[in-house]
Parts: sequence; structure tokens; C-alpha cells
Amino acid sequence: MHLVFLPATILKNQIIIFSMTDRPRVRFAPSPTGPLHIGGVRTALYNYLFAKQQNGTFILRIEDTDQTRYVEGAETYIKESLEWLGLSADEGPDQGGDFGPYKQSERKEIYAKYVKDLIDTGKAYYAFDTPEEIDAMRTRENERGNQGPKYDQRIRKEMRNTLTLGKQKAEEMVAEGIPYTVRLMVPEEGIVSFQDDIRGQVQFDVKELDDKVILKTDGLPTYHLANVVDDFLMKITHVIRGEEWLSSTAHHVLLYQSFGWSEHMPEFAHLPLILKPTGKGKLSKRDGQKFGFPVFPLAWSAEEGESFEGFKSYGFDPAAVLNFLAFLGWNPGTEQEIFSLTELTDTFSLDQISKSGARFDYDKAKWYNSQYIMAQSDEQLAQNVAPFLPEEVVQKIGSKLASIAGLLKPRIQTYTEFSEAAAYFFREVDTYNEKIIRKKWKEEIKPKYQDLIGEIGAVTSFEAAEIKEVVSGFVDQSGLKFGDVLPLLRIGLSGDTKGPDLFAMMEIMGQGTTVQRLNGAIDVFDKISED
Ligand code: GLU
Repeated sequence: MHLVFLPATILKNQIIIFSMTDRPRVRFAPSPTGPLHIGGVRTALYNYLFAKQQNGTFILRIEDTDQTRYVEGAETYIKESLEWLGLSADEGPDQGGDFGPYKQSERKEIYAKYVKDLIDTGKAYYAFDTPEEIDAMRTRENERGNQGPKYDQRIRKEMRNTLTLGKQKAEEMVAEGIPYTVRLMVPEEGIVSFQDDIRGQVQFDVKELDDKVILKTDGLPTYHLANVVDDFLMKITHVIRGEEWLSSTAHHVLLYQSFGWSEHMPEFAHLPLILKPTGKGKLSKRDGQKFGFPVFPLAWSAEEGESFEGFKSYGFDPAAVLNFLAFLGWNPGTEQEIFSLTELTDTFSLDQISKSGARFDYDKAKWYNSQYIMAQSDEQLAQNVAPFLPEEVVQKIGSKLASIAGLLKPRIQTYTEFSEAAAYFFREVDTYNEKIIRKKWKEEIKPKYQDLIGEIGAVTSFEAAEIKEVVSGFVDQSGLKFGDVLPLLRIGLSGDTKGPDLFAMMEIMGQGTTVQRLNGAIDVFDKISED
């Protein structure tokens, strides 16, 4: 269902033209209060998918009216994260658009005007209570047995505001420069209800709602006011956001009603929480450190020395991260699990989003990543792992990197794992599996093993298939078993018995290195088995 706007609506002294359109306009509206949590990334993704599927518009709006929570660098971090993931906005602070500015701190005058409208129509009022007076009210109420008191329809009658002081007096105080806030006047009776696309009908009794501050003493609006005014002015058709905003929606609906914008209220869809791996409680930024996985898209270091890794620095592919996040709360209703961004765009629907929280499963995230790694060409994978290797290694290894990447592709789940898995290609072996050496290295094997190295050194075309043939032939006629020599060859080359195909490994290392390492390892084997 889409909102169909009237062609033109006259509101007070301005005319707002609504076009007849079916195309959704959605926004991702983060507050730059720190690095963007993956829950926020998922919200951005769902908004993006929803918009793109219907040829709609995906807007980035920076909600930075709370100066006390503003964190330097957070806005850039948000933009860089979206860019890394390929979720580019159609309108936003950097893209521009017809409904800007897209940063709330640049829209101060706009809000002031709307707040004034609400005061003039009696839907909001001035409140002069100092923080001390608010505290005193709380203490008083607690003593009366009212725990967690709110500035609501009962309490407002006991405080210093337009309602108790009278309109004229309140205006005089404002003119005198006495600090004030503006509060929304919640009606005394009634039920606020709205249809949530995920949760169905949601209702709140106004008696439960406080008179939220909509304009603070610093002259800036609070989240609620700015959010609603902007959604209206930016012609947002669907508000898709996290569950934590569900209860605020009651006030938002009241704001729409107070402005006389009920007909233009967007549809709401509140997304389920992302839960800790244990399934208990909301996934927090600390959980990343606690469980050893990323909960942010990119690495972040705050001024106070606090720093976090991100999916990127953990060696994830952005497409895998999106695929993984898409499934945290949504599923296509089929068996298919691997979806490109385009496929997600085609398949996504709000109906398939679950109401209950989605458990964060890091193993699943790595599984997705391994699937994306497997789908890459050797050259692509080489390019992706290169930033995780020391520069001199990349230089030294040159074009062999792609072959190594191809060989190790099924053995790594993240790009960071590559440097460890491929270490023996880049440097000499320094640790050997001593247990296996003691078991396999026997006096009678040594001369045959030396002959075998000689044969390997004589292979004319040093390719995996050829080497394998030579080694197999040697094993057959020497009366040895594969199990006698293969583990030793492996350990000689890489230090351990685990690894990719031995002959492919030799081909990539090259004949010179292979022979030299195998010979060099003989002394090591002798020494270890003597001990
Ligand atoms: N600024 C809010 C946030 O940081 C936006 C909530 C909304 O989308 O309305 O998440």
C-alpha cells in the first residue's frame, strides 16, 4: 500500500505541492553520536532495498540536533560505511537534492517556524522549569509513591509553564530572555494508534505519554520534532527504522495530528532487534570485544582511546556483509541464501520481516564470506587479500599471489586469514610439526627420501600433474607407501601436514625453492628425531 497524496494542500501560510506518485521516498536518518552499529547498517540496507525495488528514492539525513551527543568524525564514518557497502544515497548532504539541507543542524530556522505554529494553535506550550525544579518534582512525586514520574497531563498543571502562568505572562518571559523549552501538549483523553507494516495495529493510551520537549533551551529541536517535520517536508512515504523507536512513534503520530498532517503521515515499519549470540538481549557494541567479532562496518577509534575493529578490517567482503545482514530479520521464504545486492533488491519485502529479534551468528557471517570468497576469481581474491599483507610480501610474491589465492580459496573464511594460511609461501618455515616428524622420520627412509628429492629436482616441466606422476612412480618402485613420504614432504615445505594439494603447492613454490626447502628440512628432521 502506498500513500497517495493530494495534488496540493494548503497549510497555514505556505503551499506544499504533493505530486501524485507511487514511488516511495525513504530515509536513513542516523545521529552522528559514534560509529554506526551494524543494526543501523541493516536499517540503511532495508531502506535502500525497499526504495530501489520500486524505483523510489533513498535519502540520507544526518540527525545532529543533539549537540551534547555529537561525536567528531561520526558523520564521515557513516558516509564511508555506506560507501564501502555500496548503499549510495540518492539525496543527502553530499548528493544534494530538492529537499535539503539534509543535515538537521542546518535546518534550525525551519524547525523554529513549525514550533511557533504549534504554540500559536495551542498544541504546544512554553515551559520555564529549571533542571532543579524538574528534579524537585521528581523527588516530590517519588515521595508520593509515584515512581518514574513524567511531565504529563497531571504534572504539567503543577509546573511553571504557559498553562499555569497564562499566555501573556509566558510570552513576556520569553521576550525577557528567560530560558524556556517548548513541550508538546498531549491530549487528555484518547488512544493514539497507527498501523505498523511489521507489527500490525499499535496503540498507546495518551495517559501513558509525557509532554515531550520539542524545542530545547539551546533553541534546537529535539529528535521528535525535527524527525517529524523533516519526514513531512521531505515527503517521506515510509519510515523504516529500529524497534527502539516504536514507542516514540506515539508522539510522532500526535505531532502529525497537531500539525494537521494526518493524511500525509508515512507508513511505519519497525524492524526487529538484533540479539546477542546467546539470543538474550540486544547486541551491543561491547559484545564485539567480548565475543571477538565485529559489530561495526569499519574500524573506529574514538578520541578517548576507545577503538573497535569493523567487518572490513576483519577481512569481510562488503557484499557478504550485506547478504548476512539482510537475513538478520528477513528471509525470502525459500532455501536460497546467497543474494547479490541486485537479487536482494528484487526479492526483498517488508512482509517477510519477522517481528521477533534476530540472533547474531558470527559463524554464519563467516560462512557467507567464505561463499563470496569461493565465487571470486583468483585475481580478484589476490587483489582483496593484498591490503592485508605486508607491502614487501606483495612486491616479492608478484603474480604468484593469484595462484596462491586460488589454491587457498577453500581454506579461508576472511581475507585476514589468508596471511596466516599462506605464510609458508612468503617466508622460510620456522616451526615444524615435531610429533609427526618423530613418528615418520626413520633411518631406513632417509636415503630413499633423498633420492625422491633428487627425482623432484629432475622433473622437466615443473607442474603439479607432472610432479605427482614422478612422486607416484617413485613411491611405487621404491616399496614405500604414500603415507610414509607425503607427510614428510608437506612438513618439509610448510612445517605441517595440513594444507592444500601438495603438488600444486610445489608448482607455485617453484622447483628451486621446493628442492632447497626439502633438502634443508632433512637436517631439521634428523635433529628433531634425535632429541
Ligand atoms: N536519528 C535516529 C537514529 O539515530 C533516527 C530514528 C528514525 O529513523 O526515526 O536512529
